[in-house]
Amino acid sequence: MRRVYIETYGCQMNVADSELVASILRQEGYQILPTPEGAEVILLNTCAVREHAEERVIGRASQLSGLRAHTPNLTLGILGCMAQRLAETLPERAPFVDLVMGPDSYRRLPQLLADTAEETLLDVRLDREEDYLGIDPIRRQGVNAWVTIMRGCDKFCTFCIVPFVRGRERSVPADEILRQVRLLAAQGYREVTLLGQTVNSYSDGEVDFADLLRSVGQVEGIRRLRFTSPHPSDFTPQVIAALTEVPAICPGLHLPLQSGSDRQLELMRRGYTVAQYRDLVRRLRTALPGLALTTDLIAGFCGETETDFQETLDLVGELRFDSAFMFKYSPREGTYAHKKMADDVPEALKTERLERLIGLQEGISRQINEGLVGRLAEVLVEGPSKRQQGDTRTYYGRSPQGKTVIFPHEAPANSLVQIRVQRATSHTLFGELSP
Ligand code: SF4
Repeated sequence: MRRVYIETYGCQMNVADSELVASILRQEGYQILPTPEGAEVILLNTCAVREHAEERVIGRASQLSGLRAHTPNLTLGILGCMAQRLAETLPERAPFVDLVMGPDSYRRLPQLLADTAEETLLDVRLDREEDYLGIDPIRRQGVNAWVTIMRGCDKFCTFCIVPFVRGRERSVPADEILRQVRLLAAQGYREVTLLGQTVNSYSDGEVDFADLLRSVGQVEGIRRLRFTSPHPSDFTPQVIAALTEVPAICPGLHLPLQSGSDRQLELMRRGYTVAQYRDLVRRLRTALPGLALTTDLIAGFCGETETDFQETLDLVGELRFDSAFMFKYSPREGTYAHKKMADDVPEALKTERLERLIGLQEGISRQINEGLVGRLAEVLVEGPSKRQQGDTRTYYGRSPQGKTVIFPHEAPANSLVQIRVQRATSHTLFGELSP
C-alpha cells in the first residue's frame, strides 16, 4: 500500500478538491497520511490567486523534497490552479517536482503516479465535461461537509485568473448532489455548504439553483444549509424566494463586492452597479432576517482614484458588512487586467488605502458583534477551542450567521447548544451555555 500526504492551499474549492483526490487515491489502495513523514507520494494542492502563495508553495515543495534523504522513491506533485497556471515553467523553477497536474485531471492521477518517468509529468488539460461524477470525497472530520455543485467560471472578471485555471462553468447533475447530501445526512452531518466559484449560477439544464436549494433543504437530517460564493448578478427572484422558503438556509452570506465605485466595477467587469448591489443587499436582508453579510474588497485596482476609493469606503460604511476579506490589487499574469490595463496605483498608496479600509471594516465588525452581547445564539459545536479561559478548556462552534462562538463548557462535536453572548471582538463571540 503506497502512502500519500496531501497539503492544501487556497480557497474552499481546493479543500474540496483535496478530499476528492484523497478519495480517488484511496480507491486505488493508497493510504492517506496526516503528515508528510513516511509518505511515498506528497501532493501540494495549490492556489494561483496570489503571487506570494505561489512562492510559498515552491519553497515548501523544495523543503519537502529533502525527505528524499529518507524516502528515495518519494514522488512530489503540484496540483491545482498554480499547476495549471505555471505548467510550462514549473519543471524549470522547481526541478525537484515530479508531477504537475491541473484541476480537471485528477481521475488520471493514479495512472500518472504509476508512471516512473525521468522527466516531470504534466497533465493540465482543461476539460469542459469533468465534474467528478460518482466520486464521494473523503471528508475531513468536521461538522460541516462541503459539496461541490459546480466547477469553473464564465464571468472573466478582468483581475481574476480563475476562469483560466479552472476552466468554464459546468454543473454537477442535481441527482448526484442529492445522493451525496443524503449520504452525508446518513453519516451524521447536520450542515452542508454547497460550493462553486459562482455557486448561484448553478444549472444542470433542468434544475436551477433555486430548485436545488429547495431539494437539498428537504433532505432529512440537514439542519443547516449554506452556499458559497454567490455572484451578485446571479441572484434571481426565484433564488431569493427560495431563501425565504427553505428553513435550513442559514442567514449568513458571502457576497463579493470588490469596489464601491461604478467606474471601478465596470473596469473589473463585475457585471453589476453599486445601485444594483445595494438593492440586492436590501432584498437579501428582507428575505433572511438577521442576515450576516461578508464580502471581498480590493484596494488599488487599475485606475482607482481617491474618489473611487472614497466611494468604496462610503459604501462599506453604509452597507455595514459583518466582515470582509480585503486585499491590495496585484496583477496576475494571463488576466485581461495584466495584459491590457496599467497597474498604476503606487504600491505605497495601495497599502495606505488597504489600511484605511481594514480600519473602517474592523470597527464595523466589532460594533456589529458587540450589538449581539446579551443575545442567544444557537451554536453547532465543532470541538475544543485552542483558547483556555483561566484553567477551563473552551469549546467553539458556529452560529447560524456563521460567526465563531467560544464558550467554557464541554459539548460534543455536532451538538446544538444555546449560548448567551457575553462579550465580542471583531471576529469572535464569547458566551455561556444558556439553560
Ligand atoms: S466571478 Fe469573477 S472573481 Fe469570481 S471566480 Fe469568476 S472571474 Fe473570478
